[in-house]
Amino acid sequence: MAILTKGPRGTQDIMPGDTGRWQYVEQVTRETAGLFGFREIRFPTFEHTELFNRSVGDTTDVVQKEMYTFKDKGDRSITLRPEGTAGVMRSAVEHGLLTEALPVKLSYLISCFRYEKPQAGRLREFHQFGCEMLGADSPAADAEIIAMVNEIFQRLELKEISLEINSIGCPTCRAKYHEALRAHFSARRDELCDTCRERLEKNPMRLLDCKSPICKEIAKGAPTVLDFLCEDCSSHFEELKNRLTSMGISYTVNPTIVRGLDYYTKTVFEFVSGNIGAQGTVCGGGRYDGLIEQLGGPKMTGIGFAMGLERLLLVMEHSGSPFPEETPCKLYLGSMGEAAAIKAAALVAGLRSEGFRAENDLMGRSVKAQMKYADKLSAQYSAIIGDNELSSGLVKVKNMVTGEQHEVKLSLDEDDDDSLLNFLYHTGFAELTDAIEDAGL
Ligand code: ATP
Ligand code: MG
Repeated sequence: MAILTKGPRGTQDIMPGDTGRWQYVEQVTRETAGLFGFREIRFPTFEHTELFNRSVGDTTDVVQKEMYTFKDKGDRSITLRPEGTAGVMRSAVEHGLLTEALPVKLSYLISCFRYEKPQAGRLREFHQFGCEMLGADSPAADAEIIAMVNEIFQRLELKEISLEINSIGCPTCRAKYHEALRAHFSARRDELCDTCRERLEKNPMRLLDCKSPICKEIAKGAPTVLDFLCEDCSSHFEELKNRLTSMGISYTVNPTIVRGLDYYTKTVFEFVSGNIGAQGTVCGGGRYDGLIEQLGGPKMTGIGFAMGLERLLLVMEHSGSPFPEETPCKLYLGSMGEAAAIKAAALVAGLRSEGFRAENDLMGRSVKAQMKYADKLSAQYSAIIGDNELSSGLVKVKNMVTGEQHEVKLSLDEDDDDSLLNFLYHTGFAELTDAIEDAGL
């Protein structure tokens, strides 16, 4: 019955040894987004299928091949979200967020679902952190969004990642570009893969994205979108570049970036790493000026991005970015005998209220086995209470690294310098002073 002991293909369990890394990344992304004025929004894991057909676009891989779509018991077509933007837009329109002061800045941290072929950096359930800025048309907004991703990566000390930008124009200039692409690809129509032949009419830009070697080869000589931009799109792109330069953010212009989803206009960008295999795009984003209207909302522009957290963690691990240490167990308070065990539990509860991670015996182990367990926990200090300690009110606390012992009062009295509580506080200070000295501050 492997089905009961092995998760579905393309899913990943995040184990206790790894959740600390996830929490850290989530905290940094949320905090940075907060500094840029983005407020978190939460929305359902599933939506009406039509929402994704309309927004992501029915000529995209996501809609054509990758969606988890099913009929619910009320015979409605439901889809597990393959991305976040559609849900955020639906929710913002439904709740009148777009009538608030502009720009509206929203962030989200979600799981997404796509039926894809699992491989490194490509899962069927994965996680995205994303942001959307609505109602700001100017390149300043594009620059701010990109600067924010850049700031997140700097805070995470992410190396080996580069920014690539492009403009894919607006519906007006893109029409001419589509014509040019159709002319280019039609000349070798018979050699194209089946999917590309189908897309040639409806969405020729997608052919630039095809992974088949022959389509890639044909795409090499294709006209570039930047030669077709109208005045407005072109000056928008120029100003974005100037702003990035003035903020000290380096980038390269890559005219082959078209992005997988249908709703993008003007600016598109990706942060790419060459070190995590074929799936190197950690973050993708762009402007989607027609999307809100297309979903039945007001005429309002938008720009956003989504970063894949699994890929982000892969790059961080590969490039040796630092992760915070797990909070260590400060004290293992062992015991000998029933009365001492009860006392130990009460003291440990008190220490936890004071913010210390502390543990006591829950297994009825021998003292020797308790000490072995304290070692396994990598507890910084340990102490054992028995009848003697109960009657004297004193206990020896052992530094588990140096073996040094200190006798303290078996009490959590904060006014008593010799109490166990104050001992632990002071060792905290001592460690802090050592750390400050080590850092040369
Ligand atoms: P790809 O080029 O890998 O197919 P995409 O263009 O489909 O990516 P987007 O829809 O732009 O990706 O999603 C934004 C980010 O979400 C990606 O850059 C990536 O980091 C992450 N992502 C997308 N699909 C997956 C997946 N199946 N597994 C893990 N992460 C993913
Ligand atoms: Mg994809």
